Amino acid sequence: MRKLPDIKRLVVKVGTSTLTYENGRLNLGRIQNLARVLSDVKNSGVDLVLVTSGAIGVGVETMGLGHRPESVAEKQAAAAVGQPQLMEIYEDSFGKYNTKVAQILLTKYLLTDTKMHANATATFEALLDADVLPIVNENDTVVTDEILFGDNDTLSAHIATLVQADLLLILTDIDGLYDKNPLENPDATLISSLPNVTEDVKVLAGGSSSNRGTGGMITKLEAAEIAQKAQVPTLIMNGTEPDLIYQALKGEELGTIIGA
Ligand code: GLU
Repeated sequence: MRKLPDIKRLVVKVGTSTLTYENGRLNLGRIQNLARVLSDVKNSGVDLVLVTSGAIGVGVETMGLGHRPESVAEKQAAAAVGQPQLMEIYEDSFGKYNTKVAQILLTKYLLTDTKMHANATATFEALLDADVLPIVNENDTVVTDEILFGDNDTLSAHIATLVQADLLLILTDIDGLYDKNPLENPDATLISSLPNVTEDVKVLAGGSSSNRGTGGMITKLEAAEIAQKAQVPTLIMNGTEPDLIYQALKGEELGTIIGA
């Protein structure tokens, strides 16, 4: 078992690869399980914020594009189609467990515009006070390259900082950080905990592990670095079986914990 901080406030990030099947379609069973487990965690008295990807992925599927487009405008169009659908699915899935949800779409101006930062902070607090689950994504339809978070790993770390979370939980399609690339090395072993992210550790992490999302292990490690600056530890674990979140939050050695 590992020693975790007392978790009163939790930010969970879920990526496109967890929300969808390999063919790009939504994995509704998994989303339902995730909604059940997260609602239960929230019911136990934890302030919860969910950072979600999937707007572009869902839009690509609905528009029948066949693959993730290259151009920014096409991605933004796909996000504009996908984001409301994604929220509808969350509203339905969480609604089943009486969890009220809210949509928060942010841009990187959050980090530089102090007024926006203060407003966003106050909105998060008001939603959490009102027992509502904020569901956050980047406002993909309006951002440009220069102001792009780009991947929601980074966004989730900034949100964990902003709400002063006790833990950032990043769910992905791999069990955590390995000492070598596990796809090429069957003897690769999972690193259970890291005091902090060093350059050597970043070398261990390859590129994106799927073609449906944006971030790979590197962006997750960078997210952990950002969160650590605000004394928020990060747990990177497999989101395939959402029920494992219960064990992980009890301190079972699942995934890779950084900065605890
Ligand atoms: N904001 C993008 C979306 O919802 C996701 C970025 C990412 O893959 O992390 O599709």
